[in-house]
Amino acid sequence: PGRVLRVQGLVSEVEARDKSVYQCATRRLLKTMSTDVRHVVAAGDHVWFRPSGESEGIIESVDPRYGVLSRTSKGRQHIIVANVDQLIIVSSAGEPGLKPNLIDRYLVTAENAGIRPLLCINKIDLIDPAELQTIVGVYGSLGYEVHLVSAKDGIGIDRLRRALHGKDTVLSGQSGVGKSSLLNAIEPGLNLRVSAVSRENDKGKHTTTTASLIPLATEGHVIDTPGIRQFQLWDIIPEEVAGLFRDIRPFGNLCRFPNCTHTHETDCAVKNAVADGILDTRRYESYCQIHAGDAA
Ligand code: GDP
Ligand code: ZN
Repeated sequence: PGRVLRVQGLVSEVEARDKSVYQCATRRLLKTMSTDVRHVVAAGDHVWFRPSGESEGIIESVDPRYGVLSRTSKGRQHIIVANVDQLIIVSSAGEPGLKPNLIDRYLVTAENAGIRPLLCINKIDLIDPAELQTIVGVYGSLGYEVHLVSAKDGIGIDRLRRALHGKDTVLSGQSGVGKSSLLNAIEPGLNLRVSAVSRENDKGKHTTTTASLIPLATEGHVIDTPGIRQFQLWDIIPEEVAGLFRDIRPFGNLCRFPNCTHTHETDCAVKNAVADGILDTRRYESYCQIHAGDAA
């Protein structure tokens, strides 16, 4: 058994159980089994391969996928990475300031992909943590794990490291929030590899959607997904959005009209819940924006 760390052209880099890495080709037979030849093998795939040399091999089969991050272009699904356990949504308490509506967009994407989302608010050294009480309350009560951290001062890093242990984790969030700094704080040994990956990207050697799994010193991987910076609500149609908001979903089922969009209708259970103060107004506004397909 092996794990695909990255795919470059026709070659997949596969990590064996003993952590050695093989450059693998894919069996021709396997290719014809798929309707989308470009994605016979994707980063993150659990595969079965046969070594054909000291560090070469051939992938014989690919296990069924879960937790897939993908995007659709020209009607085809492009897998960015497969078998993701969790998505850490990194934001920043200052420079750049917190953007809760952006957090909601990432949450909807994670819920849609069936990937567990966690929230991480970095740079808490720049503010009084009491300022975050409301936002932590809203997301905490929805059952999302929230990490308040500072990569700079080392606050909350041990707990975050434990959250990564044994898991395959995507770190997402707008650029500048401190994703690289956090990874380096979590695992100093990662330093070289993380910066090496981004330096190659700067030179444009890779396409922007090439994902890489970076093995952690212990168990698990962090997944570097350059394309995720331009995170879109891939594949999500407006009618599905309410079902992906944990707080709105239960009210949406109570609306008078089964096709209620919870925007302009009268006698809408969601709008009533907002008016009664049961549903958070800002979360509802987030919902309306995403439902309307507005840009972040
Ligand atoms: P990325 O684009 O998300 O990978 O963000 P970087 O890790 O490159 O960090 C962006 C900037 O934020 C850099 O100037 C970091 O030094 C700074 N930064 C990162 N973490 C912290 C933090 O916890 N506190 C403060 N004050 N600055 C930070
Ligand atoms: Zn409604």
